[in-house]
Amino acid sequence: MIRRLLKTLLVMSAPGFILFAAPASPAPWNGAIDICLCAAVDDRRIPLVYEAIRFWNAALAEAGAPLQFGAVHQRPLSELEAALTQMSAGKLRSHETLPYPSFMGDMEHDLLIILSDADIVSFTEHWEERSRAVIVIKSDKVHPLSLPNVTRNVIAHEMGHIIGLGHNSDETRLMCGRPAPCRPEDFASSQPRFLPLTEEEKNLLRRLYGNSEEQAELLSSTPSTE
Ligand SMILES: [Zn+2]
Repeated sequence: MIRRLLKTLLVMSAPGFILFAAPASPAPWNGAIDICLCAAVDDRRIPLVYEAIRFWNAALAEAGAPLQFGAVHQRPLSELEAALTQMSAGKLRSHETLPYPSFMGDMEHDLLIILSDADIVSFTEHWEERSRAVIVIKSDKVHPLSLPNVTRNVIAHEMGHIIGLGHNSDETRLMCGRPAPCRPEDFASSQPRFLPLTEEEKNLLRRLYGNSEEQAELLSSTPSTE
């Protein structure tokens, strides 16, 4: 079972990019994050979600974190667009947590990733008491997600928030965001690639999700100072 332990702080950013504040109160999970991917069956962004999952699972494994983005269950996009437009507008108006949407109902999955076909503001939301989260990605047919390599990194960036990372100010890094001047178009590249994490972010993942056995080994291997 997935359980969020600490509260997160969510702030708005530039259109198309929902950003979290500095990781003053990060959001750890336990075990595997079970994902429901909601998209049109022929959506060209679906492989990018799987790439982002592999990117994060490699980063988490490197950090020694016993956390992974787990199984993906694909569902059609269906009639969600109207609800998403309303939620997206709500995020523009307020930094408060949105009401839990009825379309998520009693969803058994931990994380719903929705690939919208609308020109809305992408957003990420957590409902701590329900141990549920949603990532909504706007259409990739409009700027700046239409630029090569941007959507891939926006998806990964939002997933980084889900596991507790905030923003840095280095425009060459995945988690760059407000108040730094970097924007999603900075992800544009003719080469398909994920921007890297900072060493501080890797250390934060280690601290958030560090394996207790590994920590015990580290403690036991520490030389005595007698
Ligand atoms: Zn962000």
